[in-house]
Amino acid sequence: MKTAIIGFPRIGKDRELKFFTEEYFKGKLSEELLVKNAAVLKNQDLKIVANSGVDFIPSNDFSFYDNALDAAALLNIIPKRYSELGLSTLGTYFAMARGYQGEKGDVKALPMKKWFNTNYHYIVPEIADDTEIKLAGTKIFDDYNQAKQLGIKSVPTMVGPFTLLSLAIYTGSKKADSFVNSAVNAYKQIFKKLSDIGAEWIQIDEPFLVTDLAVEQIELFKSIYTQLLAEKNGLKIKLQTYFGDIRDVYSDVNSLEFDGVGLDFIEGRKSLELIEKHGFSDEKILFAGVLNGKNIWRNNYKNTLSILEKIKSVIKAEIVISTSCSLLHVPYTVESEGKLGDEYKAQLSFAVEKLGELEQLSKLSEVADYEKEKAFKDNESLIALREKYQNPEVKRRVENIPQSEFTRLPAFEEREKIQKKALCLPLFPTTTIGSFPQTAEVKSNRARFKKGEIPAEEYKDNVKKMIKRIIEKQEELGFDVLVHGEYERNDMVEHFGENLDGFIFTSKAWVQSYGTRCVKPPIIWSDISRKQPITVEYSAYAQSLTNKPVKGMLTGPVTIFNWSFPREDISARDSVMQIALAIREEVLDLEEAGIKVIQVDEAALKEKLPIRREDWHKLYLDWAIPAFRLVHSGVKAQTQIHTHMCYSEFNDIIKDIDNMDADVISFEASRSNLKIIDALHDANFKTQVGPGVYDIHSPRIPDKDELVSALHRILKGDRVKVQKLWVNPDCGLKTRGESETFESLTNLVNAARQLREEYKGENS
Ligand code: GLN
Ligand code: ZN
Repeated sequence: MKTAIIGFPRIGKDRELKFFTEEYFKGKLSEELLVKNAAVLKNQDLKIVANSGVDFIPSNDFSFYDNALDAAALLNIIPKRYSELGLSTLGTYFAMARGYQGEKGDVKALPMKKWFNTNYHYIVPEIADDTEIKLAGTKIFDDYNQAKQLGIKSVPTMVGPFTLLSLAIYTGSKKADSFVNSAVNAYKQIFKKLSDIGAEWIQIDEPFLVTDLAVEQIELFKSIYTQLLAEKNGLKIKLQTYFGDIRDVYSDVNSLEFDGVGLDFIEGRKSLELIEKHGFSDEKILFAGVLNGKNIWRNNYKNTLSILEKIKSVIKAEIVISTSCSLLHVPYTVESEGKLGDEYKAQLSFAVEKLGELEQLSKLSEVADYEKEKAFKDNESLIALREKYQNPEVKRRVENIPQSEFTRLPAFEEREKIQKKALCLPLFPTTTIGSFPQTAEVKSNRARFKKGEIPAEEYKDNVKKMIKRIIEKQEELGFDVLVHGEYERNDMVEHFGENLDGFIFTSKAWVQSYGTRCVKPPIIWSDISRKQPITVEYSAYAQSLTNKPVKGMLTGPVTIFNWSFPREDISARDSVMQIALAIREEVLDLEEAGIKVIQVDEAALKEKLPIRREDWHKLYLDWAIPAFRLVHSGVKAQTQIHTHMCYSEFNDIIKDIDNMDADVISFEASRSNLKIIDALHDANFKTQVGPGVYDIHSPRIPDKDELVSALHRILKGDRVKVQKLWVNPDCGLKTRGESETFESLTNLVNAARQLREEYKGENS
């Protein structure tokens, strides 16, 4: 069988893309050199993929920031406020991604959202009534030609019209269907040009097809593709889906004139059933996504080959072995993990290793009794070793959690009164989400400690000095609830993982999160428990420096889990409950150490909400919300529990969020519109809220008036009660610079002060 991948990581083995792009952002690298560096990187990746023997090699999977933004830019979906800045093409592109503040103007970035159920973020395209969708760029052709120069006949990839139009925001009265014709024409032109320069295939990514589709959406899909496929201009069209199954349109896809269809057999729970039930057209090629593109474990050949056999037994069409999604979601190569022992490394497979697995699977799939092959047997013994990595004692604890520990007493309303008295906070209390900028000093302290250049004591002293400085700074700025700054943390998940039993760590296994930001998820290797207190020392130290409450800062169990690579043979629920028990111990230790406010971040709670609504509760919320409650149910009434969530796209699960039973929740609300605020009102949300009043993902500094009006908008029509509103940025500040941060925070505290003046009569 032939093999295919859907996309390859583009950040480079050592995150080269990040480093040179950031140099460009700082004005230290010219646009010309940026483009040159990117070309070198692309060539490296193309060669690796080609040399591994993959048959369908993608191109244009590279992106300077995001593929959805690439598609929007290629199709001229560029809001006027960006094009009017008069920047270069790439400059305009980055202005949409990151905002622009400079001599040519001041515009915010476009909203950024999570890409389906991943921790990758895409830039939301914005379409106005007068947006003219047309072919307006060359990137997809340039990238094809670049591969061609290496002698590689690649498959150019791009986000498809259905997904793009479905994810876009429409600012005027026109909606997606008004743009079908122009989008179809633009894609046809792309087909034509690609076929002119020699391409045989194009891969069109349509992950939106795995979501619950309404009748109009199905019509939209059909109308786009009936028109588009009528004129393929000699090109073969591969419809690529991932992150689930396409049950709502399977028959339509089957009868439309696609030349290839990519289905996900890992997350697509019904994919197999769909082809069994409805067949698969003989004229198409099935790209069978059987190799997990999201997880990092060596593939279980026995399982995969048996899925392939099942597929083979029901369809006659040609089958190509593929990854389940782009390899963008896994790190580059296990090779870079010099520090990990061989026993660990043997079990892992990152992007480069997955190419090798595809090659082996392809060979095995061609021999009748593959079970006798060495590659197969080696794999079988490797998988068998996983039995050893378990901890029965931890498993028992999870089985025996008393039901009462899932409910905090007294109830919210009573606690709210008790905490008002105990904490003496003003109206519109100000706080931040936890981290302060990771300055060069912060990073070098950590790097030197890790390299063994400074002893633990010196490292800790340095962290404490930074804590002291930032506590003083927050007092000077006038914050009400302070934080210690998270200087000891590289990453909010890694830091906890490192202090829990059951995780292992990589040193270079970076995965792109958004733009140049990468994360290094820990790996859940076994059953999880807490080794020792994790945050108590620094939190208690910070609290000893001030009379104001300092928030203890923890990451919640669902987020730790969601931002780690999970085991495939321990259930998500069980892993999360294990982590919840560990974090619960930490919460109780913090309280014991005199910490009065504890924030348990569940930044990623929404992220792993199953894509299909019928799965939300059964497969996720029914244990994810109780896990959070388990974390904090043991504290006293006076202790105020905060939580934080990135992205406020939780309108649909607002009751579940309230059911987490936290006392205060902060979340992003500045980049997206304020719909969430209405939803809070409608749901009669009890938890106090801090809807972020400015966007920390961009270097732009909001002025006081802008923040005051954001607060007014939130309060308008009593949507949020004056007594329930907190004032804070929308996320942690660690990715920002200090000077811009302090300026923004000064404006934020002043905005809160102005509001207190306005609402003087109200008691807190
Ligand atoms: N407390 C974390 C921080 O401030 C939260 C980060 C996040 O939500 N992603 O960095
Ligand atoms: Zn956040």
